[in-house]
Amino acid sequence: MNIAPVIVLIVLTVLILFFIFYKKPAKKIVLTKNHKELLNQNVSYYYRLSEKNKSIFEEKIKEFLGYVRIDGIDTQVDELDKLLIASSAVIPVFGFNKWKYYNLRNVLLYPGSFNKDQFLASGYEQNTLGMIGNGPMQQVMILSKQALQFGFQTEAAKENTGIHEFVHLLDKEDGDVDGLPEALLNRKYNSTWIELINRNMQSILEGRSDINYYASSNKAEFLAVASEYFFNQPKLFKENHPELFKLMCTMFNQDPANV
Ligand SMILES: [Zn+2]
Repeated sequence: MNIAPVIVLIVLTVLILFFIFYKKPAKKIVLTKNHKELLNQNVSYYYRLSEKNKSIFEEKIKEFLGYVRIDGIDTQVDELDKLLIASSAVIPVFGFNKWKYYNLRNVLLYPGSFNKDQFLASGYEQNTLGMIGNGPMQQVMILSKQALQFGFQTEAAKENTGIHEFVHLLDKEDGDVDGLPEALLNRKYNSTWIELINRNMQSILEGRSDINYYASSNKAEFLAVASEYFFNQPKLFKENHPELFKLMCTMFNQDPANV
């Protein structure tokens, strides 16, 4: 009996199974002393954490950078950019033990603002400083390098484009970017949350609020814009918007004013 065909068949089967089941090992990310220094100098949220929580934050940053690719378009992606993008991702979910952004694979970094029409966006985002993709651009986030960095400078105060876009992604976990992040907020809080949004949007429209006017565009933008303020200036947000602050602490399972 000629066993050659059997051997060929076995080899082929093994090769096919290998290609089907082989998983590339996760990229090993190392944070050096210099990276930690950059975080301390540029990410006030990280700076305020205890040593123990800083280590947890670093682990989450490494994990994120292990599964999301960051590409510069007409701009160089430097180490600080990577750290700021990863921090924007980690900050909103720092209250959860295990969180993976399954709806994100790639972040594209542009030098300044970009033309949103070329990205087939769904149209809910009028901003050209950051965007999450839809359709063929599903699992892609686009950020302006300038806006990303600005969001972490103290003078930015209540604005943080990176956090804004990641909160949209969290909102999108349940399928809709509608300001009701079902993955984060138990349904029993829905009516309170909607009532708070409506009341605060009204205050913004009447010029009686210090929340950025863009938050009055719709509920999704309200959530994203209020989150920028909540994470960038937690103490001030708590003082000026105690009810919102309390509910958002429940939503994000953390109290950024008291870390
Ligand atoms: Zn937005």
